[in-house]
Amino acid sequence: MAKIAIFGGHNGTNEAGAFGNGLTEKAVAKEAAQIATSCAKACGHEVINGFGKPLSERIKYANNENVKAVLELHTNAGGGQGAETLFCEGIASAKQDAVAVAKAGSIKGLKNRGAKGDTTTRHGRLGIVRDTKAPAFLHELFFIDSASDVKIWKSHKKAIVESITKAWLQSQGLNAGPKSSSSKPSTPAKPATSNSYKNKKLISKTAGLRFYKKPSWSDKDVAGSVGKGSGFPTVVEKLKVGTAHQYKVKNSKGSTYYITASDKYVELKNK
Ligand SMILES: [Zn+2]
Repeated sequence: MAKIAIFGGHNGTNEAGAFGNGLTEKAVAKEAAQIATSCAKACGHEVINGFGKPLSERIKYANNENVKAVLELHTNAGGGQGAETLFCEGIASAKQDAVAVAKAGSIKGLKNRGAKGDTTTRHGRLGIVRDTKAPAFLHELFFIDSASDVKIWKSHKKAIVESITKAWLQSQGLNAGPKSSSSKPSTPAKPATSNSYKNKKLISKTAGLRFYKKPSWSDKDVAGSVGKGSGFPTVVEKLKVGTAHQYKVKNSKGSTYYITASDKYVELKNK
């Protein structure tokens, strides 16, 4: 079991969401988060919800509670149809996990719009995927302004949310079957998050990129700099340093350093 966060989008005060076909995003997101919470609890997990907290407080709440994974549920709007999952670019395996969640959410006739990274669709609501210490995904359940999507949602909400929740738990290497069941989960759990960078190396996208002796942004902790196209052969983990993220990396001699995790400056490539 693990402690995880399942949030409903727009559930803070003054956080208006989309609306359509007699529904509000806020109410749909809360109901979906409650269904997902029951599902996750049945799989043995401890869940925090943070209803009533605005986005910045939800991020702090997840970080203070040291949750292992974060899922925030929303509805889309703007004239499309179907489900999609947004993820933080630059985190190994985030995209493939988001693809799995999007697929699981596109059942009962909902179109699969796939996974979208935060660099291509930058938006304030994506703070949840960028600023939490734990891997976070924002799932858009359906288009609230599509009458056909809303019809599917109303008839199948429990099946849709449970499918999403189980795929998400599995993607994070967490138990996704009933707690009491003695049967083995159908998919073996993935290695812990700390191993998800196992096949990755870090490459600098810019000249003279500074790296640090310890998790810090301070000039006095600078250990050196790397040139554009060079970097570190081993990525150990991603961690929160101040208000941003760094990767803990090792050089070819095994010495440990810390470097920005911003995808503006670095990228992870397969070894
Ligand atoms: Zn939203």
